[in-house]
Amino acid sequence: MISDLERRVLDCIDDDELIGWVQALTRIPSVWKPEQGIGEEAAARWVEAHCRDIGLQTRFEFVVPGRPNVIAAYASSPDFSIEELLRPPASPHARKWLMFEGHTDVVTEGDPTQWTDPPFSAVIRDGRIYGRGANDMKAGLCCALAAIKAIVRSGVDLNGGILLGAVCDEEGGMIGIKHFVERGWADHVTACIVCEPEENHLCIAQKGVMWLRCVIRGVMSHGAMPLTGVNAMYPMARFLTMVQALEEREIVRHGRHEFLGQPSITPTIVMSPARGEGEPQANVMPGAAECVLDIRLIPGQDPDALARRVEQMLAACVAVDDRLRYAFEVVEVRHPIHTQRDHPIVQSLASAYTDLTGTPPIYGGVPGSTDGTILHARKGIPIVTCGPGDIHIPHHVDEWVSIAEIKLAARMYALAAMRYLG
Ligand SMILES: [Zn+2]
Repeated sequence: MISDLERRVLDCIDDDELIGWVQALTRIPSVWKPEQGIGEEAAARWVEAHCRDIGLQTRFEFVVPGRPNVIAAYASSPDFSIEELLRPPASPHARKWLMFEGHTDVVTEGDPTQWTDPPFSAVIRDGRIYGRGANDMKAGLCCALAAIKAIVRSGVDLNGGILLGAVCDEEGGMIGIKHFVERGWADHVTACIVCEPEENHLCIAQKGVMWLRCVIRGVMSHGAMPLTGVNAMYPMARFLTMVQALEEREIVRHGRHEFLGQPSITPTIVMSPARGEGEPQANVMPGAAECVLDIRLIPGQDPDALARRVEQMLAACVAVDDRLRYAFEVVEVRHPIHTQRDHPIVQSLASAYTDLTGTPPIYGGVPGSTDGTILHARKGIPIVTCGPGDIHIPHHVDEWVSIAEIKLAARMYALAAMRYLG
């Protein structure tokens, strides 16, 4: 049931303004093209200006030149200062902080002639806004803005604060959210809604990822005299066969997750010579072979144990010849996420969805990695990924977002925030 107070907040959402925002933000191309001097800065300035208009306190921080994060905060108490968020919480989570998270970068538009309309025109047709970034994820960011604005305008008292993080480089190395976390902006956050396009489904599970770099080192030699060296490629081939068997065992052991399917271990880079060790040549037996494993994890898998297992396999492959050596590096590890359905942030979004649509929420999972993975991995923050936009359309030509989903998302965010911070 939507209360009178909640109704008052929902009435403060101005759909025409919201749709105009999505168009305006989509029209600012924020593809990272440093050679052309283009990045997220203009889009981030737009977000910060709108946050200030709404009455939020903001900070604008460059992660690297041309690539800023916007941090914006709101709390009902008049003496609140955004700098408080950089001081350690007085007692663990003395006050609830709900974060809305989004990224300002978009992927390349590709060949513009493949598009029906110019990629950054943000035209409206058939109840959709078309444009690169409209779906992933400028609509979601604008919905968070609209929800926060409605809450601020209505003057409702919240038992906690709202933080908006609009960060750079989600589509690349995620330097934006990493910087945000390192600065301390996430330290007070008790729950986060990641506003990525999920058709307003409640994605409570997310695959983890681990990248392992494995190098086997032999002895380089002339291809005509291989016995004067030690070939690293045969032990690498044995290693890859063992990796495939390990993947099969992991699948059998952990089965299919209801939202995420089965885990995977994929060699994505296999090369010899190893990286940085010169050009391959037909008559040279290289001194080393290297591979990178892209491991996608589902809840229940232990990344540390898996990494140890892979290293043991690598060690076994070089044990056949005492001139062989190996090197092993965990390049990145982000644990899988599963936020329980009875967690207050999930409950708040679920009841909001039901009250607004008259139907139960649809739960789901995120197969890839998002900024939310970093927030969870580094700070243990409970995450729900939920936002407007078709799940399969990000990064496509003629990217679009449904206006009906935009309107619903803004209302879900406003209600969820009020209920979570009620
Ligand atoms: Zn995205």
